Amino acid sequence: MEAPSQGKVKKKKNLNGELEVLLSVIENAPFGVFVVKDDGMIEYANEAMAKISGVSAEKFKNLNVYELVHFKEMGLDLKIRGALEGKEFVLGPIPYTSYFEKKRRYRKFTGIPLKSGGVKRAIVFVEDVTDLKEKEEKYKKERETFFSFFENLPVGIIVTDESGKVEYLNREFTNITGYTAEDIPDVKTFLNVAFREGEDKEKIADFWENRRSGEMVDLKIVCKNGTEKEVELKGEYLEDGRVVSVIRDVTGFKMMERELIESERRFRSIFETSRDAIYITTKDGWFIDVNTAFCEMFGEKKEEIMKRNAKDAYVSKEDKIRLKTAIERNGFVKDFEMRLKKMNGEIIDCLLTVTGIRDEQNRIVEYHGIIRDVTEKKKAEEKIRYMAFHDMLTGLPNRSLFADRLSIAMAHARRTNEMVAVMMLDIDRFKDINDLHGHDLGDLVLKEVAERLRNAVRRTDTIARMGGDEFMGVFTNIKKIEDVATVGEKILRVFSTPIAVRDMVFPVTVSVGFSIYPKHGVDLDSLLRKADLAMYEVKQSGRNGFKIYDQEDPS
Ligand code: GH3
Ligand code: MG
Repeated sequence: MEAPSQGKVKKKKNLNGELEVLLSVIENAPFGVFVVKDDGMIEYANEAMAKISGVSAEKFKNLNVYELVHFKEMGLDLKIRGALEGKEFVLGPIPYTSYFEKKRRYRKFTGIPLKSGGVKRAIVFVEDVTDLKEKEEKYKKERETFFSFFENLPVGIIVTDESGKVEYLNREFTNITGYTAEDIPDVKTFLNVAFREGEDKEKIADFWENRRSGEMVDLKIVCKNGTEKEVELKGEYLEDGRVVSVIRDVTGFKMMERELIESERRFRSIFETSRDAIYITTKDGWFIDVNTAFCEMFGEKKEEIMKRNAKDAYVSKEDKIRLKTAIERNGFVKDFEMRLKKMNGEIIDCLLTVTGIRDEQNRIVEYHGIIRDVTEKKKAEEKIRYMAFHDMLTGLPNRSLFADRLSIAMAHARRTNEMVAVMMLDIDRFKDINDLHGHDLGDLVLKEVAERLRNAVRRTDTIARMGGDEFMGVFTNIKKIEDVATVGEKILRVFSTPIAVRDMVFPVTVSVGFSIYPKHGVDLDSLLRKADLAMYEVKQSGRNGFKIYDQEDPS
């Protein structure tokens, strides 16, 4: 009997021991525990619960859950009522902070019904889940931030998991392509609907299959509405197998790029085929670009020109200053006449059109210029001008220039009270030379006559050719009639030696008549007519001589 009773006692003792351990575990548990009886009275609360509630365990034990305001606020009273009726519950995480806790804390309440000895009880575990809650919130916030960041990115984002399922695509992705996550649930569908068979499909398949992380792929994407867009796609493979791909709509950019290339090509073609030299320099005159015509005009290869400065081409400092001032004043010059130096030192006449290109601060940063070489044009113009006033065979002034010189001489003589002698000269029997030796030889003789006459007179005098074998002269500084006779003798002396042409010699004589301003007339016509009359008289009286007009004008 003893043994069993002993055993019973032992068992009881053991049970007590186990209860003690259990109680001590509960007492010292890091979470709160309290037991509620069916009338709402708190029967038991552990140390942790006392701390959580902010009152002593003893005090907490005598409270009624149905009377606790903060329990009511949380709806915990009703939950406990439920547990007392057999319904387990979990409440929270919910803010539940005792008065001595400074930081807001979140707690989770777990209620378990407990029935023993016909009495309904509820045991409530209270866990502090603040850290968890905070972590969760932080994570949620991060996700939200991330999400809003992705949603508002100006590039399209598509995220796929390791199986190729589309996890996420952002608003801009839909803006660009028109596809939503429903349209393209996975990569396979995306590839099928959005890329045409051929190069683009191969490129995108290669990108996905070969995990080309970080590489930029240029693709044409078929949008949901059937239109095509040019996009740049770049993907990042994450360690967990997910792929984050970024797409950028470059349709407009590519179009602009193509237009720019096309426009550059067009301008380049005009630039290169222009017959005018075109150049661009820095503000300091260093060449940035020159066209073919520029190289040809200045006689140097482009590489050589690019090493030079535009200032090397200036001929005179004055021109340089003139040009600089004009550009600074007006911002440009148009058809600015200037002489420039070629690379070999040759000087050319140019027309410059230059624009100073300014920056935002209105400072000149570049010069753009067009140069037209007008050397030939100028020469041609000079030739025309020369031809208009000179006799082509002899190079002597013609009748027009003679008239001009005579009027200047008369004006001068009027001021100085001097006279002007007007001469008419006709070669004697010139026809014979022509007839015997031909017109060409006659020309050579005429040229020699002209040359001799030109050399015989002073620089201030003029010898001109009237036409045929007739020449005219204007002699200034005539103070008396005798001076004219001196001129006449000098002219005749010019022909004292025969003219040698083509191994032949021609004795040439001339008949010369003079009239005098203002004595015989004050205008070209009357002076010429009177000189002619005088000359005619010489012809009549046997040629080879000179005569000064001395009759009254018969007309
Ligand atoms: P005269 O002594 O009377 O003056 O006799 P001439 O033979 O010189 O006769 P005239 O002055 O009347 O004739 C001039 C000749 O000069 C006529 C023409 O044959 C020739 N002649 C006119 N113009 C030119 C020319 O440009 N070149 C050449 N070679 N001969 C010309
Ligand atoms: Mg003659």
